[in-house]
Amino acid sequence: MIFKYCAECGTKLEEIRCGDDDCKICPACKKIYGSSPVPVIGALVVNEFHEILLLKQDYISTKKWTIVTGYMTDGENAEESVVREVKEETGQNVLKCRYVSSYYYEPKQLIMLGFIVSVRKSAFTKSAEVNALKWYRLEEVDAVIARENNYSGILFDNCRTMLEKGEW
Ligand SMILES: [Zn+2]
Repeated sequence: MIFKYCAECGTKLEEIRCGDDDCKICPACKKIYGSSPVPVIGALVVNEFHEILLLKQDYISTKKWTIVTGYMTDGENAEESVVREVKEETGQNVLKCRYVSSYYYEPKQLIMLGFIVSVRKSAFTKSAEVNALKWYRLEEVDAVIARENNYSGILFDNCRTMLEKGEW
């Protein structure tokens, strides 16, 4: 995340060197700011019938469907964030969680940690930011999954071999 002003006191930041890296410092309270991206998690949710759960979130796309995503909360590791976000956004309980790959999203300076997770198909409950939830068969996903300004499609591509073999 790129800061121009101190998040604590609002003072304009100044450039400094921290070891090998360019950093910024608040001249008033001496807080140091790096340029690390903000971590978010992404989860491709699969049930025991090999169906894939996708979300409709109109603030992301009114036409395409997405995976579960969310910001990590302080005190959580990535797997705990996945379990919490999947429960909050879909009502499904994560049985197994496997890391796939990470993706850098430049427009928002996010680093998304992508997972594939197993759940037992159960009733939906959804958060206010989710407009709809739907189970798709593997062969249906390509036509509906979001790819423009969104990593849902790439995570799906990177899971496809595992999904086709039924191994994850
Ligand atoms: Zn400050």
